[in-house]
This record gives sequence, structure tokens and C-alpha cells, in this order.
Amino acid sequence: MATKVESKAEKLYECEVKRKRVRASGSGYEPFWKVKNVEEALGDGDTEFRCKDCHGAVKVHRRHIANGPASHAAHKLKADAEHCAAGVLVREAAGEARLSGTPVV
Ligand SMILES: [Zn+2]
Repeated sequence: MATKVESKAEKLYECEVKRKRVRASGSGYEPFWKVKNVEEALGDGDTEFRCKDCHGAVKVHRRHIANGPASHAAHKLKADAEHCAAGVLVREAAGEARLSGTPVV
């Protein structure tokens, strides 16, 4: 049986969620990104996520069982995971941490 290398699995417990706020001018709304705990964001029904460090796309994994891993996010793209300041893979990659080449805006 293959053993899963847990240390390589990314678990980002904080991410950015897209919210709307009233413009400073008072007319209409403008989108902005807010850092939030993944578990909390899911509870609040947030649907748009991105990495708070590299702004790359992330996939959210919701906690399914009571004693399972807490809800978390992981980079969709390996390239982001390898270069993100928050990624555990960055330590093994050659380059320095950088922003995503395909940021979510
Ligand atoms: Zn990232």
C-alpha cells in the first residue's frame, strides 16, 4: 500500500476571500480581498478564494468528518505551490518565493 507523504500535502488554513464593500464615494460597491480562516469562510458561504500570499488559485477542502483534518485550501497549480511563500514545497524548490504567474483578480 502506498504511503501518503503528509508532510508534502499543503494545508493553508487561511486564504483570501472576495467580498464587496461600499465605495468611498458612496455610490455602488467595489470588490476587495479579505484574509480569512478557511473554516470560517466556508461557514459564511464565501465562494471565491485565492492564496493570501501568492494570489494564486486555490482549491478548498471542506472538513467532512468530525475528527478529520480541518477545512483548508491548497494551490490548484503546482507552480504556485512551489513558489508561494506559504507553500511547504517552497523549501524544496530552487527559487525564491514569488507571486503566482496566474493570479486570481
Ligand atoms: Zn500561494
